[in-house]
Amino acid sequence: MFEYAPAPESRSVVTIQPSYGLFIDGDFTPGKDVFKTINPATEEVLSEVALGAPEDVDRAVAAARRAFATWSALPGAERAKYLFRIARIIQERSRELAVLESLDNGKPIKETRDVDLPLVAAHFFYYAGWADKLQYAGFGPDPRPVGVAGQVIPWNFPLLMLAWKIAPALAAGNTVVLKPAETTPLSALFFADVCRQADLPPGVVNIVTGAGDTGRYLVEHPGIDKVAFTGSTEVGRQIARSVAGTGKRLTLELGGKAANIVFDDAPIDQAVEGIVNGIFFNQGHVCCAGSRLLVQESIAEELLDSLKRRMATLRVGDPLDKNTDVGAINSAAQLARITELSEIGSEEGAERWSPECSLPDRGFWFAPTIFTGVTQAHRIAREEIFGPVLSVLTFRTPAEAIEKANNTPYGLSAGIWSEKGSRILAVADKLRAGVVWANTFNKFDPTSPFGGYKESGYGREGGRHGLEAYLA
Ligand code: NAD
Ligand code: MN
Repeated sequence: MFEYAPAPESRSVVTIQPSYGLFIDGDFTPGKDVFKTINPATEEVLSEVALGAPEDVDRAVAAARRAFATWSALPGAERAKYLFRIARIIQERSRELAVLESLDNGKPIKETRDVDLPLVAAHFFYYAGWADKLQYAGFGPDPRPVGVAGQVIPWNFPLLMLAWKIAPALAAGNTVVLKPAETTPLSALFFADVCRQADLPPGVVNIVTGAGDTGRYLVEHPGIDKVAFTGSTEVGRQIARSVAGTGKRLTLELGGKAANIVFDDAPIDQAVEGIVNGIFFNQGHVCCAGSRLLVQESIAEELLDSLKRRMATLRVGDPLDKNTDVGAINSAAQLARITELSEIGSEEGAERWSPECSLPDRGFWFAPTIFTGVTQAHRIAREEIFGPVLSVLTFRTPAEAIEKANNTPYGLSAGIWSEKGSRILAVADKLRAGVVWANTFNKFDPTSPFGGYKESGYGREGGRHGLEAYLA
């Protein structure tokens, strides 16, 4: 293995204020209470952020309601100009935003720079293009915006999830109140600044920071017309209950336990890359992560040898180092959850393996880990771990692979590795998953709809389909 000299990205390209208020009606206003957001790689406090109270949510919803009248009445081509402007500003500021996102979340700069930020800009460009073509989107000749959207997002892709929520909503003529996750509020607050730079009319986008309670006030607020949530299945269930019977629209993008299926005719080296990308990308904090490897028994030994060799080359450490592959776990709470489920994996009899790697002393870290000898009854085969932990199962026939892949309460994504196109199509057809990747994994594109079945939620984000939730 090569030794690499440190190659740190410059931290000085971003200036983080010591404190941030709530972004309501085009201005930052202080909150009554505050909370701290830290860098999970160092545990250093990055900033103090307002904790949105019910009266703050009231003000934000009222501002969004006022703005809706004018924003929804603008010709689509006018709204498009704002969205194109936002997309271009994000591109211009992408280095700054990539460093910020890496600092607040713990993910490697290589990913924020090459994946998150390009996709964020692409989402705004893509939906900007739809704003003046809504009557051709397949939702009737004169589709109307729904109104004010309350949007709650998680910490794993803070700015990208914001883009998935805000870009289609605005393109369709809605206004929004968005609550970012409590461990990663900063990029949403920088986005507020991007909105001001783009001269977006006040109230069209409001950002209310806070924790679960702030999110609950928002989704339960009688002044909103639509709820969009990405996060845990548990909270998703609560939201579905509270929204039921209110007439509010609801889309839920929840957890997953995706099968990554490798057949005996698959190109092994490519499959190994896809497995690594499937579970170690973003520390495995990915709802569509390929967290269950299903490998055909006849090639299991060969594949696992290659996988272990490849895992030994993963560099874990400083997220701002350009050579880092695996960054920090997002929070102490998430680290505790990953640690607990991994211990249960060993207790239940699976065999645990990690490459040798030295982890930093401060911050939250977990070595890339695989479990072999996993059965479908094991908790690590059933529950979402949301960390760099892969459960390996084997199968003998395609029918067995399909049965095992579908044996989960989730249904968000899946992967198939095979040389035969006919086999890929036949298997994909039988998988109950919203996204099926073939000979690749974790590829995202704004033109492609994304969403789940069963306990992974309902509704689609991305593509033409992503407009539907925001059009009446
Ligand atoms: P979470 O569902 O609690 O948090 C997601 C967002 O919802 C955050 O912004 C949070 O503040 C907000 N929230 C929490 N309670 C709420 C409520 N009652 N009403 C409205 N909003 C509320 O997720 P978490 O605690 O950060 O993570 C727990 C587990 O969830 C993870 O281990 C992982 O398995 C899963 N998860 C999935 C995704 C995903 O993308 N599907 C993202 C994050 C976490
Ligand atoms: Mn943070």
